[in-house]
Amino acid sequence: MIAGTLAAQIRQNGPLPLPDYMGAVTSAYYAQPNVIGAAGDFITAPEISQVFGELIGLWSAVVWQNMGRPAKVRVIECGPGRGTLMNDFLRAAARAPAFLAAAEVHLVEQSPTLRAAQLALLGNRATWHDTIDGVPAGPMILVGNEFLDALPIRQFQKTASGWMERYVTVDERGNFSFVLKPSEVSDTPAAQPGAIFETSPAVTAFTGKVAARLMKDGGAALLFDYGHRVTAAGETLQALRQHKFCEVFDSPGQCDLTAHVDFAAVAGAARSAGAAVYGAIEQGVWLNRLGIKLRGLQLAKGKSPEIAREIESGIRRLIEPDAMGALFKVIAITDPKLPRPEGFLPEDEP
Ligand code: SAH
Repeated sequence: MIAGTLAAQIRQNGPLPLPDYMGAVTSAYYAQPNVIGAAGDFITAPEISQVFGELIGLWSAVVWQNMGRPAKVRVIECGPGRGTLMNDFLRAAARAPAFLAAAEVHLVEQSPTLRAAQLALLGNRATWHDTIDGVPAGPMILVGNEFLDALPIRQFQKTASGWMERYVTVDERGNFSFVLKPSEVSDTPAAQPGAIFETSPAVTAFTGKVAARLMKDGGAALLFDYGHRVTAAGETLQALRQHKFCEVFDSPGQCDLTAHVDFAAVAGAARSAGAAVYGAIEQGVWLNRLGIKLRGLQLAKGKSPEIAREIESGIRRLIEPDAMGALFKVIAITDPKLPRPEGFLPEDEP
């Protein structure tokens, strides 16, 4: 369906910018049922261990205290998936009842299917928005896991005559492929002909907006994703279906299309709006500093050996460098008036 729509559009108007293709395909993809989780196409940190969302909830309670305990704080989650992280967040936040009472939950979610899953889990505690722009102004704590990687990217390719941009075209049989078009791009890294360089105007625009809101109304944002700390050439756009990689143009709308996040670009966008930036650091390091192992032991206490092993192996998967601990990073963006947030050290301030 989405493939047919995009093919018709290309035949009529010529090659499509990659961000337009990726945006359309991603919306179609997330509108399908059961994409996240063991039975779906990919599994995420909150689906692996409840401790992930719990620690983020407790982290947020401390941020709220440092904000001067505002009577109302917008707790915003971008791309909440099945709602698991927020559910675990709120359960842990109940240990800080004044924070929980102040928290007004806003979910930024474009998929009607996932909104329904979030509603089933969280009930009417939350309010939904298509974009961050819909969330009313005010002091806020924003979280997101694997949200930025789903936002559209541009790809540039180094050729003998300089950088060109990759657009999406289609053949008579309906197969999509890349085509190069002349383009303007600045701040490109040194690269050999053939090299690919990616940027995400959507990621930097989102980050800039979040940072501007933090400067105006106060608060913090905490974003987790897989990606790199230093801007570099390289192709990271990938498609995933049923836990296996596929080709980028395979079954449009039925594979999860994502790209690694350039955390240097995220940090740069936040800092140019005046916000303070911590990290990005490895997810495993951050979770260890927040005491994930201790929390796992508490959780396992009194449980059957089988459940205890499950809890432990879930936590290991989140923190071990050869699992999700090192590829995944976390970055905090805050109102510079706030103290350094939990889990970050002085050396994590770039
Ligand atoms: N955070 C969840 C889900 C990650 S998948 C987890 O960790 O399990 C990406 C999420 O972002 C999905 O909820 C998807 O519907 C949402 N999403 C992707 N692109 C979006 C966009 N442009 N605007 C709003 N939500 C988007």
